[in-house]
Parts: sequence; C-alpha cells; structure tokens
Amino acid sequence: MSDNNNISNKILAVRGMNDILPPDSTNWEYLERVIIDWLHSYGYMNLRVPIVEQTRLFERGIGSVTDIVEKEMYSFVDGLNGECLTIRPEITAGIVRSFIEHNFAYKRPRRVYSIGPVFRHERPQAGRYRQFNQIDVETIGFNDPDIDAELIIMASDLWKKLGISNIRLELNSIGLLEDRTLYKQELVSFFEKNIDSLDNVSRNRMYSNPLRILDSKNLEMQSLLSKAPNLFDFLSTSSLNHFEKVCSFLDKSGVKYNINNRLVRGLDYYNLTVFEWISSELGSQGTVCGGGRYDGLIESLGGKKIPAAGFAIGFERILEIWKKSNIDNNCNNSECDIYIMHDSLKNQLISLKTSEQLRNLGFSVILHSGRDNFKRQFKMADSCGALVAIIFGENEIINNSVSVKFLNKYQNGICKEQEIVPIEKLASFLKKRLKDD
Ligand code: ATP
Ligand code: MG
Repeated sequence: MSDNNNISNKILAVRGMNDILPPDSTNWEYLERVIIDWLHSYGYMNLRVPIVEQTRLFERGIGSVTDIVEKEMYSFVDGLNGECLTIRPEITAGIVRSFIEHNFAYKRPRRVYSIGPVFRHERPQAGRYRQFNQIDVETIGFNDPDIDAELIIMASDLWKKLGISNIRLELNSIGLLEDRTLYKQELVSFFEKNIDSLDNVSRNRMYSNPLRILDSKNLEMQSLLSKAPNLFDFLSTSSLNHFEKVCSFLDKSGVKYNINNRLVRGLDYYNLTVFEWISSELGSQGTVCGGGRYDGLIESLGGKKIPAAGFAIGFERILEIWKKSNIDNNCNNSECDIYIMHDSLKNQLISLKTSEQLRNLGFSVILHSGRDNFKRQFKMADSCGALVAIIFGENEIINNSVSVKFLNKYQNGICKEQEIVPIEKLASFLKKRLKDD
C-alpha cells in the first residue's frame, strides 16, 4: 500500500479534518460562549447526543435518496458485534431519536440545542470540510407558525450580536405531503419532457425523489430548473395560511426575507416552512444556516405524531464571517494575566500559595516551570502575552515582598514600570492596578 507520509514517517490529520490551534481556538471558545448565552436567552436547553448512531436512523430520517445518505456518510460495520453504524452527518436525527427514546416532548413541547462535530465525506475546500461543527437548534411539539418565526428571528438576532451583516434570508413553503403528491406528478412529467437536459444524478432521482433535483447545484441545469413547475402554486389554503403567518411575524419583527420558491433544502424530512441564511462574504459556500419544519420526522422514526421545527448553523462558516466582520475583534489571545517568576526552588515553593490566591480572585496565572534565568523567564512571560510578571527573587523575599513588572510597558528591552509590593498586599494591589489599566 502506498503511503504519502512514508518519507517523513509523520502521521497527518485526515483530509478535510482540521486541528484548531491556539490562539485561533480562543475565537472558537469566544464564539461558543456568545452562542450558548444567546441560546439560553431564548429558553433553549442543551441536549447532548452520541456522535455514532445506527445507520438506519439517518437512512430513514434524512432519506435514502439524498446527497448525504447516498455519498457523504462515514458508515461502517462494528467488527465486534456486526452493527451497522454511522458517524453522524447531522444532529437532528439523533435528537429526534433521543426525544422518542426518552418520551421527552410528549407532556409539553421543548426547545433544545446541541453543538458539536458532524462528518460528511465531501470534497474538501474553503468552507467545506469532512469534519465540521453545527449548532443545532430544535423545537419539538409546537404546531403554530409563531415557532417557525421564532427560529428565524433568533437567528437574525445572533447575526446582530456577532456584528454580521451582508447576510440574507431565503424563505419558502414546500407545503404538506398531500400538497406535494400532485406536484410531484407534474414535476416528473416536466422532467420526462426535458430528460436530455438532466445530468445522470438527476435522471436517477427522477422517480425516486424528483424534488431533490430542484436542489441541484449543477450550473448547466439551472436554466431548466427555473422553468420547472412551481411547488408554491400547488399549496393548499392551510399551507398558504401557515406561510402568511410566518411572514407577518417576520414583518412585525423587522426581519427582511426573500421569498424563493425554488428553495427545497437537501434533506427529505422538511414540510411547510423552509429557510436558508446566505452570506455574501463566503463565495460559493455562502449558506451558513438552514432549517425549517419537519412535522413528519418523529412519526417516521417510530414516535408519536408530533410536530417539530429547527435549524442548523455551520460553525466554521459563521466563525469565518465573524472574523471578517470584526477584524479588530477584541478577543483576548493571551495565555495568562500574570506570569510568576522565581530564582530558586525555595522561592518557587513560596510562590505556590500566592498563585492559587490570585487564581481564586479570577486572574489567570502561569507559574514558571523549571529553573531558568530571569532573561529567559521574561521572554516566556512576554510570549504568553502576560500583563504582569511577579518576581519571587531572593532580594525581595527577604523583605516578604515581590517585584511587580507591568509587561505591556516593557518596550525595547526596558521595563517602564516596576514596583516592590509586600506579599500580603499583592492581591489588592493587582486587583486595583489591573482593573484600572
Ligand atoms: P451545502 O448546500 O453548503 O452543502 P447543506 O444544505 O448540505 O449545505 P445542511 O445540511 O443544511 O447543509 O447543514 C447546515 C449548515 O452546515 C450549512 O448551512 C452550512 O453552513 C454547514 N455545512 C454543511 N456542509 C458543510 C461542510 N461540508 N463543511 C462546513 N460546513 C458545512
Ligand atoms: Mg451539502
């Protein structure tokens, strides 16, 4: 077997699966925190589901004639017991399975969220990875169009919180299953008449899942697709009513939308409202959030007939836009506030207690590891981005004191500011000085 890495004998990460190193990981943590606070501010609670599920959950949930199930899933047979398993390509199906398994939404409707990695075997490129992260937001048990609107309004609120503009909302209704029966016949006969203009994938899907053809990204088919019969013209009065109500909630909240009757979404479980948020900052991978109503999914996965709606945000794509929109973002990339130095084991031992005290006050503190001269310790403090270095040196300790050096005033090799502070007054001194600075 050939192995590209033979020569250097290095083992590299799997293609399309990325390491997130510091300091970039600080941006991830910051964004995660903002997102979790935002979710809680709308009353959404965290639900954590496994990353591996039975393969048939996704086949039945997402639909077997979809891009994800046909060609993007990491599926395998567990050699130890023969189970057919899949590393999740999305989170919704797992959440629904969990709801059914624990009877979680039958007594009262629920709002939940889950954040974590999903896996799809796609061609890696900017904004498209094989392991990426989703923020999955789901509501189970709500029938009314107000919840469809709530989901959209809260997403719009997140963009505001993150300072993200240049993002547009595409909105559509794909009606109920009944509405789609007649439409599907019309669509199939339209495709039959134009079979020469269909690509192979679409020809294969013509009878099994004709709607999915509308979601094709093949540029050569776009002009044909724009002439296809329009599902919106086949919607029942009750579907149209539902859609109008969603729109009036959005109008009232000042959320702007483009009605796009071509939008069908790539997964089978949707009905009525579907939507996508698309950014103009990311080129062709501009969809940052997709969702809608999926009233039939719970029943089709063996649960009771209760409605549901939700959306998923692509974490990497939002992060990318957030970075572009907040070039001067004030994300703190430093590793600590305070760097503690010492010139002997004895003084290092004395500094242990102080380090703990300062951490308990809310400072992040690194205690220098090992025996090094002060020059090297200063270098380390600087590269950690510390604000302050505290020196437990022989001269200071004799007087029960330490030297405090303010490193952001340390320029061209000269420390601009240094003070001797008694150890017992150190905590209050730092609190005052670091807060004022
Ligand atoms: P796309 O049309 O870009 O393939 P999708 O319809 O397959 O997206 P969803 O299944 O709706 O995507 O997933 C929700 C979000 O996850 C997308 O809006 C996008 O932001 C993000 N996403 C989807 N696939 C990837 C990927 N391979 N890498 C990074 N982010 C992704
Ligand atoms: Mg996709």
